[in-house]
Amino acid sequence: MSNQNNKINNYSIADDLINLIIFLAVAIIIGYLINNLVYSILIFLSIFIIYILYSNYIFERWVLNYKNNKSIKYHQKHQYLVSVLNKSFEEFVTIKLKFNVLEKRFKELSASMPDAVVVVDNNFVTEWYNDAAIKMLSLKNVDIGRPILHLIRNPNFTKFINTKERDAHVNFTSPLKYDVTIKSFLVPYGEDRYLLTFRDVSESDHLDNMRRDFVANVSHELKTPLTVIFGYLETISLSDNKNVDQSILDQMLKQAKRMDIMISDLLKLTKLQTTNIPEKNFSPINLKNLVNELMLACKQKSNKNKNNIKILTNDDIYIRGSYEEIYSAFLNLLLNAIMYSGKGVTIEINYFVTHSKETIFSIKDYGVGVPLDSINRLTERFYRVDKGRSREQGGTGLGLSIVKHIMNRHEGKLEVESIIGEGSNFSCVFPKSLLAMRSSKSTSDV
Ligand code: ADP
Repeated sequence: MSNQNNKINNYSIADDLINLIIFLAVAIIIGYLINNLVYSILIFLSIFIIYILYSNYIFERWVLNYKNNKSIKYHQKHQYLVSVLNKSFEEFVTIKLKFNVLEKRFKELSASMPDAVVVVDNNFVTEWYNDAAIKMLSLKNVDIGRPILHLIRNPNFTKFINTKERDAHVNFTSPLKYDVTIKSFLVPYGEDRYLLTFRDVSESDHLDNMRRDFVANVSHELKTPLTVIFGYLETISLSDNKNVDQSILDQMLKQAKRMDIMISDLLKLTKLQTTNIPEKNFSPINLKNLVNELMLACKQKSNKNKNNIKILTNDDIYIRGSYEEIYSAFLNLLLNAIMYSGKGVTIEINYFVTHSKETIFSIKDYGVGVPLDSINRLTERFYRVDKGRSREQGGTGLGLSIVKHIMNRHEGKLEVESIIGEGSNFSCVFPKSLLAMRSSKSTSDV
């Protein structure tokens, strides 16, 4: 492109220079003939300037009227510029045609999409929306240029937008119909824009609720007869009845106990999924004290398994949360490390606050580890890496699913790192908002 420009400039300047030299030569000759060189040069230079101005004027006229009137003439010296402009204009027309076709296709596509799509800028001001957004969110022309939070008023959606989490999603009740659930995704797009998509997920949400209710009802219904059976089995086991084989009775008791734990875990999971913890149930939890209680709770099991449990910190760090839930999540992780990492394995408990004020509580073991393809599945219901070992240990496969839900309820997350043969690290990450207090008196290993 710059080459082409140089060519244009050189050409025009060369053309004008030749003309100037001719004009000057004629002026000098005539100046000598009439014996007044200065006068002659002045006259010829004035004529030359008028010639340049005039040729520029007709070129400008040609450029300005080019689109509407092709018959307008231009000066020969601008021939090259004109051909370049003609070529650029033709290219522009072709690009515009292609753009028009693409724009038409995009509009047809977005109109036929069942999902509502809204483009917002960096400040979440609405820039564009498709036809489905008119129906689903009742957006109108006047809404262009208005913040999306003024158009969709819902606490969950507002929180979702304010966190600006990339590629995240949220479910919220439609602002127009209370029985419609909308799932919205936030996708960064371009340099400073976001694409918000909205999908009606009422049906799958309804099925999900039905499934959850079904599991909750079945678990609830099974709980009562099981408690009765369990009670009788215990009574028989304690009596001196010689007619019953004790080993069979022990097996029955063991299995009844497993079922009881499983039903309790299922009910716990359903409760965690279907209810929110009210903030009033949050209390400051001193992680140092909590770790001491965890150590007491699993002392027997860890002694039996010959684990060496190290506590890597002694800090007084307080987080806000439901004591009962957090205790149960941490205990589950510690018991897992004892039960599944292997005999005599070293386990490290640590907690600290990061630069971004997140609190991390981790349980690390140097045991068998978890295969890479299982790591992402650990929090699925009933997923076990080693089914036999888990059953033998009395595991239900629901523990990590419960931990995940507890962390979600605290707006935190569970992160798992594991290398087979080297060990696993399970970290609970709590958001900045839950850090209550922190005083690091000493940070030496215990
Ligand atoms: P369970 O109730 O069976 O303990 P969890 O959901 O707590 O279920 O754990 C799921 C599976 O993850 C366990 O069955 C076990 O195979 C594996 N697992 C959990 N923690 C560890 C660990 N620290 N090391 C190795 N495997 C683990």
